[in-house]
Amino acid sequence: MKVFVDRSLCYGSAECAHRAPAVFAFEDGYGVVRPGGAQAAADPRSREAIREAAERCPSQAIVCTEQDVTS
Ligand code: SF4
Repeated sequence: MKVFVDRSLCYGSAECAHRAPAVFAFEDGYGVVRPGGAQAAADPRSREAIREAAERCPSQAIVCTEQDVTS
């Protein structure tokens, strides 16, 4: 899974950092993928949390694909 935050859409609710703190952080008013967060997406538990965070992001700023992180 690949995951990133489109900062142009994020309005800083911090929802992602609360739902999946192993993957997302809240910095300078924006949700960001933590260093190593993309690799954490390889963990099935993190994948579920990422999907949920993406679904619940109020501005749909979280982009995730099912592509492997190494591709
Ligand atoms: S949940 Fe969405 S809008 Fe809120 S901080 Fe995360 S990326 Fe930004």
